[in-house]
Amino acid sequence: MLKINNLHVKLEEEDKQILKGLSLEVPAGQVHAIMGPNGSGKSTLSYVLSGRDGYEVTEGEATMDGEDLLEMEPEERAAAGLFLAFQYPVEIPGVGNMTFLRTAVNAQRKARGQEEISSGEFLKAIRAKAAELQIDAEMLKRPVNVGFSGGEKKRNEILQMAMLEPRMCIMDETDSGLDVDAMRLVADGVNALRSPDRSFLVITHYQRLLNHIQPDVVHIMSNGRIVKTGGPDLALQVEDEGYGDLLAEAG
Ligand code: ADP
Ligand code: MG
Ligand code: MG
Repeated sequence: MLKINNLHVKLEEEDKQILKGLSLEVPAGQVHAIMGPNGSGKSTLSYVLSGRDGYEVTEGEATMDGEDLLEMEPEERAAAGLFLAFQYPVEIPGVGNMTFLRTAVNAQRKARGQEEISSGEFLKAIRAKAAELQIDAEMLKRPVNVGFSGGEKKRNEILQMAMLEPRMCIMDETDSGLDVDAMRLVADGVNALRSPDRSFLVITHYQRLLNHIQPDVVHIMSNGRIVKTGGPDLALQVEDEGYGDLLAEAG
């Protein structure tokens, strides 16, 4: 599904190398977690995969189903089935959540060369997904994220993800200051959306989130690369021992 090979990324503005030969492979149906100390480049990785401006790839490649992700515009990435969970955290006063979601779904359809979704079909889909994720119908009518609590924003993010039916979901939960309830929501959402043809890359500074998600594979990132890969136990080891010994051992 997602393959990253020897990725080197620097900031466009300054001569600062942030990713220094990162390699990673997420097969279909798996949930991988990336953990690592602050400043190791976790968020930079998710920004580069989402196509955000300001970064320059100096070496390496990233593909999804064999297609070069780095050459694609952000909307082409979405059409190809990539979803970045921080992509729509903005508040949009005056735009109802439903309208926004329908626009996002149609933008994705357009980039895929498909027809727009009909109102009836859209309503049916959103009601079904909201029910499945236990999201209150009232939230669908409110302006996007305006006055939403942290938990409601997270619920909304999961709903966006459910509506776009991505194949590869990348979630950067590092700096979002999730409280325990919000963390639970994210985990429940991921678990509800897990399927054999959908993969997740969950980036998190904290092990707590992984108590509820149970990743297939855990990667430890440090100084712009993956320095260790293991099973769910690796996350527990970080929780117990911190990053110090792990990183020393990895060199
Ligand atoms: P993480 O998410 O693992 O905490 P980041 O990807 O946010 O790491 O940052 C990695 C490194 O790159 C840090 O040293 C950070 O200060 C630096 N960095 C990232 N973006 C910028 C930027 N726009 N300008 C200057 N430094 C940056
Ligand atoms: Mg950080
Ligand atoms: Mg970060």
